Amino acid sequence: MRVLAYPDPFLRRKVNPVKEISGQLREGIAEMFLTMYEAKGVGLAATQVGLDEAVFVLNLKGDPSGEQVFINPELVAIDGDRCEIEGCLSVPGLEAKVRRGAHVHVRALDIDGNPFEVEGADLMARVLQHELDHLAGTLFIDKVGPATRIGLRSRLKELEERYGALNER
Ligand code: ZN
Repeated sequence: MRVLAYPDPFLRRKVNPVKEISGQLREGIAEMFLTMYEAKGVGLAATQVGLDEAVFVLNLKGDPSGEQVFINPELVAIDGDRCEIEGCLSVPGLEAKVRRGAHVHVRALDIDGNPFEVEGADLMARVLQHELDHLAGTLFIDKVGPATRIGLRSRLKELEERYGALNER
């Protein structure tokens, strides 16, 4: 699997909900974990690897006990407000401060289709919101303030040119 990079239009897709947790989907999820580890990320959404499925994976611990799969995730509640530096495997070489909720409550299905709920604070809250955004076609660069956005412009232009060069062939 390859991690799609900005401005790939697939990253703007609003994914379809998962109807059935098939063998193919399970294989896709296993591959998503491998791809995420290879890229040294803590979270990865299906849209980032070209899968049209409402799924993201994350691991904030770095060992297998920290692996979590979120299928058809929903934001149940959000509160507080925090502005911290954030990056994304699909926007390489770029970081910016993003304002997000400080606490979130998310509901989803696990890999066996069982519903579960998590409440996240700090980094967990940030990663959950970042990955939920991916499934709705939103990137963290859409959420930065106008002054920050000016600072990002040259790097975004480089990524646009790289994407253009790759897709001309
Ligand atoms: Zn991301």
